[in-house]
Formats: sequence, C-alpha cells, structure tokens
Amino acid sequence: MSAFRALVVDKSEAGYGCRLDMLDRSALPASGNVTVRVERSTLNYKDALAITGKAPVVRSFPMVPGIDLAGTVEASDDPAWKAGDAVVLNGWGVGETHWGGLAELSRVKGDWLIRRPAGLTAEDCMALGTAGYTAMLCVMALERQGVTPDKGDVLVTGACGGVGSVAIALLARRGYGVIAATGRREEEAYLKELGAKDLIDRAELSGPGKPLGKERWAGAVDTVGSHTLANVCAGTRYGGAVAACGLAQGLDFPATVAPFILRGVTLAGIDSVMAPKALRETAWRLLDAEIDRPRLAAMTSRIGLADAQGVASDLIAGKVRGRVVVDPSA
Ligand code: NDP
Repeated sequence: MSAFRALVVDKSEAGYGCRLDMLDRSALPASGNVTVRVERSTLNYKDALAITGKAPVVRSFPMVPGIDLAGTVEASDDPAWKAGDAVVLNGWGVGETHWGGLAELSRVKGDWLIRRPAGLTAEDCMALGTAGYTAMLCVMALERQGVTPDKGDVLVTGACGGVGSVAIALLARRGYGVIAATGRREEEAYLKELGAKDLIDRAELSGPGKPLGKERWAGAVDTVGSHTLANVCAGTRYGGAVAACGLAQGLDFPATVAPFILRGVTLAGIDSVMAPKALRETAWRLLDAEIDRPRLAAMTSRIGLADAQGVASDLIAGKVRGRVVVDPSA
C-alpha cells in the first residue's frame, strides 16, 4: 500500500477543518518506528472533539486524529515487534500530538503498542477502545479501594456513553448492583440489557447540591465531572470510592471536602492516556476474560471513515449510544 486513506485535521487562515484524504506512505511520521496496518479504529469523545474542533485536543497540524487503533504490524525497526504481530494502541498522545488511528496506515512508537489479547479481534478491541479500557481501569480502581459487590451498589454516570456502557457491563458481570445515571430515560431497555438494575435521571445530580447527602451507593464510575461528580461523592456511603475519569458536564469540581473527611470516601483519578504499560496489559487481559461478547455487540455500531465527521458531531451532541467502531478502508 503506497497511498492510504486517512482523516486529516488541519488549521489555516480559513479555519479548522477535517477532510478524508489520500496520503502517501512517505508522509507517515518519522518519529515512529513501527508501521501498523490499521484494521479498525473507533470514535471516542476525545476523537469527536478533535474532528469537530470543539476543544483544543489536536496540538500540531496537519493531524490524523484517532486515539485508538487495532491492527497488524507491517514493518518494524523495534526488536520487540515483527511483521504479522497483532497489536492494539490507546492514547500516548496519538491523535493529538502524533498521527493517530483514523487511517489505513499508522507509524507509531513500539513502546506504545501492546499485544492484542488472544481472545479479542481487532473489531472487539475497537468496540472497547479507550472507552472500554478506561472503564476497566475504573473498575480496577474501585476494587483496589475495597468496593466489592457485597458493599453495596455502584453508580455509573454518563451511562449511555462509551465508558458508561462498558462500565455497566463489566460491573454487572462482576456481580455489582449497578445504578445507571442517564439523561436518556428512553434507553432504559438498553441499559438494563447491559446489566443495570436501576436508572436515575442525570438531572438529579447535575445541579448544585449539599456537601453531604443520603448514602446511596458504595462506589461510582463518574464520566461527567462538575456538579455531578460533587453530588456523586456526597451520596457515596461511608468508606466508599469514586473513580473519576470524565468531564462530559464540565472540567470544574464544585465540591466540599465533607465526603472525604467525614465519610472517608476516596476519590480515585483515572487517566488512560499515560497509564503505565503493565496496568494497560492487566486491563486488556481482564477485558478479554470478562467482557460479555453479546453485550459488547449490543452496544456497538460500525461506520466507515467517510462517516466519521457526521458521527463525531452526533457524539458531541450526545446522540450516539454506546460505542462506534470505524473501518478505515470502508
Ligand atoms: P460519550 O460521549 O460516549 O458519553 C458521554 C455521556 O455523558 C453521554 O452519552 C451522556 O450520557 C453523558 N453526558 C453528556 N453530556 C452531559 C452533561 N452535560 N451532563 C451530564 N451528562 C452528560 O463519551 P465517552 O464515554 O467516550 O467519554 C466520557 C467522558 O470520559 C468524556 O468526558 C471523556 O473525555 C472522558 N474520558 C476520559 C478518559 C481518561 O483517560 N480519563 C478516557 C476516556 C474518556 P447519557 O445520555 O446517558 O446521559
């Protein structure tokens, strides 16, 4: 393949734009040392921000967006990898500062790659993507803090989103009672199918609240931030924990220390982008072992590269449910 299809984000005097382009292989970043034929990529919230320009995710131009990819090594200058190896990549600034996965070819650093778990296809890996791997990091963090299923329910905010959907499926599979906070009541059947036992309206959590509320859940996965995260902490039981990974409502955190100093609640920050390799490998091994394939299929839709811009706008508008896999050659 001497030329390859790619989404390209660019910024000029004419403004910020994204186009589907045909690029020459010689344009691939020289700073990479492994060339990967991308079989599948995906659209995460961050990719949608990069494609639409709604937030300054992209740090250098022109940029191929896409923080995730799954594919096969085509050529490698890194002794750790050889042609034919099945790999997955999440984060490390790919799609932000280094050309990313929304293309048929990618040239990345070997250190960023992990071996694709034996039980997961490229399609499965991107149905999970950074969203799914982050959901697993959240579940692992709650467990590290002693939030086990016998301690009580776990709340998942942003429930219909990518991280939320995978988190519900993973927690339910581990035997937790899962409460889904959503703005989409009409998706009750979907959320229950994933494993949620109850739903609450996200509006209950999205406004300014009290420093402490009724103790409602033993733990939470929060993808929303802002007042929601403050209220989630205020409603967490004595000794519980909240894994905070997102900012769908906002970057702010208008809270008090009351849940932490009066109830011993732990706020665990989750970062997927620079997470150490050993933690990633554990998360992916657990995803392979635990993700329920029919549930994963139920939350995933598939698009081609040409559809990515339209779907990115829908994702920002909160109209996309679950996960979106991108086939770069379609
Ligand atoms: P999605 O867009 O798929 O889902 C976000 C969900 O949040 C929506 O589906 C919606 O759920 C809810 N939501 C949207 N807007 C609001 C709002 N104003 N108030 C309350 N809820 C809202 O995104 P992802 O699941 O991919 O990512 C979720 C968040 O996690 C993002 O902020 C993302 O940047 C962050 N993230 C962070 C990572 C990390 O490493 N820390 C890694 C991956 C993601 P519903 O319709 O059910 O209400």
